[in-house]
Amino acid sequence: MERSVTVAVDDDLRPLLPARDRAAGRRVLAADPDATVGHLVQAAGVPLTEVGELLVGGVPVSREDRPPAGARVVVRPVRRPQPVPAGGFLLDVGLGALARRMRLLGLDAAWSPEARAPDADDAELVAAAVAGDRVLLTQDRGLLMRRALPAGAWVRGATPDDQLADVLDRFRPPLAPRTRCPACNGVPAPVPAAEVAALVEPGTRRTATEFTRCPDCRRVYWRGAHARRIDELVERARRLTDSHQRYKGELLARGGHGSAPVCQPGRAGRGGPPGPTEGTPCPSTCSPTCPTTTGHWSRTSPARSCSCTTTSTTRPT
Ligand SMILES: [Zn+2]
Repeated sequence: MERSVTVAVDDDLRPLLPARDRAAGRRVLAADPDATVGHLVQAAGVPLTEVGELLVGGVPVSREDRPPAGARVVVRPVRRPQPVPAGGFLLDVGLGALARRMRLLGLDAAWSPEARAPDADDAELVAAAVAGDRVLLTQDRGLLMRRALPAGAWVRGATPDDQLADVLDRFRPPLAPRTRCPACNGVPAPVPAAEVAALVEPGTRRTATEFTRCPDCRRVYWRGAHARRIDELVERARRLTDSHQRYKGELLARGGHGSAPVCQPGRAGRGGPPGPTEGTPCPSTCSPTCPTTTGHWSRTSPARSCSCTTTSTTRPT
């Protein structure tokens, strides 16, 4: 009789498994008649915040179900985009540079060292997320496994730019550039130039005409030396979110990230774009050729793209 349960994860979730299990993409655990699917998934190293659909024997199951010995639990990643709680985001201590970038895009991004006492523990961080109705962003898997946490996300990426791309991809939040104080997350308001003249350099007084001031930290802002760098950040973010919108329908149709390449039925004759010729090079960068004659190219602005694409095309580049 089988005395184990196998937890097999989608490619997107492999980094969460112990190092020795990542190549295989699965972890074998001792069978326990009392263990729920949710318990087994977390025992494999995957926080439930990262989990979408769960399957046993190809059939969807709930986290509370108890799989039999010998079962294979298939774990899909959480569906993207995810809604953002009303309070916005709360970022763990190691994500300060990400918090600053998110604020430049107008996202409500509290940073834990500012949101709690410096010596506060993880339980207090979770309590701060609950109290502020914020989704906790962290790279600490253990933090995401706390039962008291209603909304959390494991942030992928080693650099702040990669982390930002992951957050934009996961939540696809509306952007409002230059509406938040990057230093403290306050909301600056317009202020007359005369009121802040004594606080800025003479050269700035001569060239800048519009100023805002953060009501919380009192910093003064104007369009200045860093404008070009911020413009580039905003442009990159808009490109990411725009491309995500472009592929949104295809993503949702496939159930989120990490699915195998899928070809949709051709739409020729039904008012849609004509079907492709087998082996036609894909005009986007996702798939070299269309694998079947039943697939189709879909017209998506601004470029045509292939419905046979892999979900990796939604990854920012
Ligand atoms: Zn401020």
